[in-house]
Amino acid sequence: MNVEQILKDVQTAEVRLVRFLYCDNGGIIRGKTTSAARLADRCADGIGLTKAMMAMNAFDRLQTVEGTGAVGEVRLVPDVQSFTVLPYAPHSAVMYCDQLEQDRTPWAACPRSFLRRMEARLAGYGWHLQASFEAEFSLCRREGDGYVPFDETLCFSSIAMALAGPFADDLVAALEAQGLPVEQYYPELGHGQHEISIRHSRALSAADNHLKLRETIRSVALNHGLYASLAPKPFPQQAGNGGHIHFSLWDESGRNVFYDPQAARGLSDTARHFIGGVLTHLPALVAVTCPSVNSYRRLQPQSWSSAYAVYGYDNREAAIRIASPFWSDAHGTTNLELKAADSSCNPYLALGCLIAAGLDGVERQLDPGAEVLVDPGALTDAERQERKIRRLPSSLSTALDEFEDDRVLCDNMGDLLTRTFVAVRRSEAEMFAGEATDDEFSQHFFKY
Ligand code: GLU
Ligand code: MG
Repeated sequence: MNVEQILKDVQTAEVRLVRFLYCDNGGIIRGKTTSAARLADRCADGIGLTKAMMAMNAFDRLQTVEGTGAVGEVRLVPDVQSFTVLPYAPHSAVMYCDQLEQDRTPWAACPRSFLRRMEARLAGYGWHLQASFEAEFSLCRREGDGYVPFDETLCFSSIAMALAGPFADDLVAALEAQGLPVEQYYPELGHGQHEISIRHSRALSAADNHLKLRETIRSVALNHGLYASLAPKPFPQQAGNGGHIHFSLWDESGRNVFYDPQAARGLSDTARHFIGGVLTHLPALVAVTCPSVNSYRRLQPQSWSSAYAVYGYDNREAAIRIASPFWSDAHGTTNLELKAADSSCNPYLALGCLIAAGLDGVERQLDPGAEVLVDPGALTDAERQERKIRRLPSSLSTALDEFEDDRVLCDNMGDLLTRTFVAVRRSEAEMFAGEATDDEFSQHFFKY
């Protein structure tokens, strides 16, 4: 894709407005829109954005962070590779943006540029990360001031498929029209809960694709008069919404670096060390992959969302599930699933920190220990202690404490990005300190 091809697509689809989007430290997708007539110039120049926006929290409360504020602009410069015409919005297209300084260098608080840096670190080993986020979401109707689940159907129920059929059909069509091949779609456990997964791709485009997926789910629902929430825990009594990350490392010759047919579970030493790194950093990493107050309502034992820093083959209570490979292609499908992740995360930060944690494991050859093949939540405290099983943080504030103590994650993110991220998420933790309230659930519902 280059600018000329984009301009042709814009003409063919009669696009009038092109959204220049980014994802902020609160996990909110924001941006500005250019008229299609000025697209060529704006691809070259970007659009100005105040630096303050990376210090805005998910509730539009601006935080004071040195290096951001009333003075200073970055330019939102779109990546031509991310261009797509939007099938769910009239005469509109989207592009995802890097935030560049006036001298065209990446701004230190730009999450997308951070992920590019982490991809470059992997490239130093001759590797790249393939990833995909699985989106769980709650399909709802608006009732009075609140939202109620679209139906009360059962897990994987064919009745739910029938009720949501027209919506699901439009959703799949809208994703495929944007070049996002759908893998699976099904009704999940909670009332009105559904899950859709799309094909994996390289880290940067996987993060863009997750934002496209979030936008598409929400917009197609709106076109059906419905509201879709990807918040981690929209309803206290219903299953939470995960945003599980499937991932594997590949070299440029097309070899899956995680796969070794001779090894236990078909997992190479590199994969085992990568797991060791992720588990070591997981109490801090969840501050980035499960970064909202609402995330910790979901991250509870016996919810299949994972609550302990363990890994295991097809273990749905493990933070890292070794996904059983397909019979037809073990090499192509050997991958890991990080269950301790949800769609309130900024996917660039989540994948960047996942790479930082995993690479630390590879570089220090960290041993992940024995895999856990039971539900860790069903063990006694003494049994967990004996097996050295750590509980993940149970609140956003404690996760942020872990994060700020984690030199590997903070140093890879860099000073300004770390400070803006922590200020934004700390402010959210302070807003909702204490017990879960209706306000907390409703405030998170339609942000994600
Ligand atoms: N809804 C569960 C979660 O919050 C995941 C269920 C599953 O797909 O295993 O992560
Ligand atoms: Mg699921």
